Amino acid sequence: MADKAVRVEIKDNGVAFVLLDVPDSKVNCLSTASMTALSEAIDLVCRSEKVKAVVIASGKEDNFVVGADVGEIRKIQGKGLSEAYNASQLGKEIFARLESLKVRTVAAINGVCLGGGLELALACDFRVAAAGSKIGLPEVKLGFIPGWGGCVRLPRLTGLTRALEIIMGGKILEARKAWKASLVNEVVDKEQLLSRAEEIALGSAVKNYNRPATDVLKSFFLENNPLGRSLVADMAYKAMMRETKGKYPAPREALKVVLKGFSLPVDKACELESQTFARLAMTDVSANLVGIFFAQQESKKLPGAGSPCQAIDCVGVLGAGVMGAGIAQSLARAGFKVVLKDIEDKFLEKGKNTIVGLFDGLVARKRLSKEEADELVGGIKLTTSYDDLKDCDLVIEAVVEDLKVKQQALADLEAASGRDFVFATNTSSLSVTEIAMFARDPGRVVGLHFFNPVHKMPLVEVVRGDKTEDASLAAAMSVAQKLDKTTVISADAPGFIVNRILAPYLREAAVLVGEGTPVEDIDRAMKSFGMPMGPLTLLDEIGLDIAGKVIHVMGSALGARLSEPPLMKAIEQAKVLGKKGGKGIYLYDEKGKPAGVNPDVLAFVKAEANPKTAGEIQDRLVLLMMNEAARCLEGKVVEQAGQLDLALIFGTGFPPFRGGILRYADRQGLLVVCRKMEYLSRVVSPGYAPCQLIKQMAEEGKLFYCS
Ligand code: NAD
Repeated sequence: MADKAVRVEIKDNGVAFVLLDVPDSKVNCLSTASMTALSEAIDLVCRSEKVKAVVIASGKEDNFVVGADVGEIRKIQGKGLSEAYNASQLGKEIFARLESLKVRTVAAINGVCLGGGLELALACDFRVAAAGSKIGLPEVKLGFIPGWGGCVRLPRLTGLTRALEIIMGGKILEARKAWKASLVNEVVDKEQLLSRAEEIALGSAVKNYNRPATDVLKSFFLENNPLGRSLVADMAYKAMMRETKGKYPAPREALKVVLKGFSLPVDKACELESQTFARLAMTDVSANLVGIFFAQQESKKLPGAGSPCQAIDCVGVLGAGVMGAGIAQSLARAGFKVVLKDIEDKFLEKGKNTIVGLFDGLVARKRLSKEEADELVGGIKLTTSYDDLKDCDLVIEAVVEDLKVKQQALADLEAASGRDFVFATNTSSLSVTEIAMFARDPGRVVGLHFFNPVHKMPLVEVVRGDKTEDASLAAAMSVAQKLDKTTVISADAPGFIVNRILAPYLREAAVLVGEGTPVEDIDRAMKSFGMPMGPLTLLDEIGLDIAGKVIHVMGSALGARLSEPPLMKAIEQAKVLGKKGGKGIYLYDEKGKPAGVNPDVLAFVKAEANPKTAGEIQDRLVLLMMNEAARCLEGKVVEQAGQLDLALIFGTGFPPFRGGILRYADRQGLLVVCRKMEYLSRVVSPGYAPCQLIKQMAEEGKLFYCS
């Protein structure tokens, strides 16, 4: 029995504890095996005359059920519609049997309770959650909708408006918010969870949230008549379109299923849910999003598996500028002891103001109390002396981008510190290996490339210098992951992964402007491709001075295909800085909103107006990124296609529904890609000539991904 995913213990008082505890795993997920075990457990309690009530609980420390087994969903995606439909129906059938038990059923939620886990809890009569539990239906983030009755039971429990918010947004609620949404009946301390669930199972009354009268009235008038429901649907649709720009089918279909299902009998609503789930699970968008999910899981694996990674408690940050202040704030928020060093008090003061501003933002959004924020700010030690960094286990360097300054900072730190520490440089364009050249132990030097703004950007590139040891890489990665960042390992190559692939894209946008393609057409075309902003707007955001420097550095390292285009050079010479200077490729109003294309920039354009279709513009920009991405794989800058795609999605906002640039290449077919590149290399520039890897894979009919 011990190796079964579900155990049943029947107590003398007649309460059956159905304990989910998937063997050899830190988490419970609902696979075929665990669902079969659950089904058997339900049969057992159904047959037993001793059972008077049921508590469904978890044997894991911090999770009830993290969701359905995404690996099995991926397998189903490779099979077909009827497999997906059957999987949905089978789960529904098991949960329906649970729901129809004649005795009281209570779900005791002790932490993460997502997707199929919440659908299981929804099939119980009551739900009691430990404080801090995370509860939700994030299925749309994988491109499908809840398929085990979530779209049917949730709106009947919480009302239409809340259910739509949760299902269409793939929202995860903290336990108290879930209580206020009527999703759970009670929230208790973790230690009391099982005893309280048992009391409720034995008949104790629950303390549901008392919704304010206005709230009750609002939902009564809105949700209990067709006109009100169409109003709710209209609002939900508009919110979804703002968020997804219509590129993701799952939220749209979720709206239809929830809305229609709300006024259908339960069996009909369930049938509609299963059919829609199956259809969505078969889409390319869903396969792409599932692919990203697995790449993310892969990215969490630390190198040098087996050897425990050095525990990091105290982290030093050198430089209290734009990046250093942001990094120090994120570290403090994640619970590290932080020492922030700069060369003068005035720079520390400025850095501290930035940090306070970031915490104020969190307080305003109710993520932290003012007292908690003050305590975290007060806990950061500000200093101008290396001596104060002597207890740091890891030091992140974010001083000015100058090789000598960085090497000197490392030498000074080594002289002051008596211990072995990991030195992580945030350089964006220098070589980690060169920074480590004079280090006492170059094996302890690593790159930790954060993006600006640190608190918003989800990616950190972890750079392996020539001598970086696995243990240092793992220590740096684990710190970044504790800041909730997605980490991708890069070789020590110019621009690492993200800037290397972004540079030709941004450069080509400037080339297109130089050819007479209207600025707004270029931005519009790339936004309609799915990029969060157009490349010319992005150039202004980055700052034309910095972007010029990046393209220049990349050009010197990688040759003619990244040489500075004449238009960029002219803009740079004119000292137009971009958004931060009030004008760049666009003009900006006092609020920083774009106010039309800057005529001074257009004055540099020598060519006649030469409009192009959105497709032509997209091909010009995307194919160059694709070629550079393939070169990164070819040159082993990054080991796996999945990790490269992950870096681009989290580092540039490359549209997740396309699965990443290399998955997009696969979907196009590498032969088609190769032919287009060859054509553009003849008519536009030799930079389009497909790299060896693409040519070879196209010839051999290979793909970057096998699934
Ligand atoms: P910044 O100019 O805003 O800040 C640099 C800070 O370092 C200044 O406050 C300076 O006084 C301080 N400093 C100089 N020498 C020092 C020393 N020996 N000890 C401690 N502090 C010292 O620069 P930034 O934009 O924060 O960039 C810092 C690093 O991060 C650079 O390597 C840069 O390439 C990299 N980076 C920047 C961005 C970005 O968008 N700004 C993005 C990623 C990486």
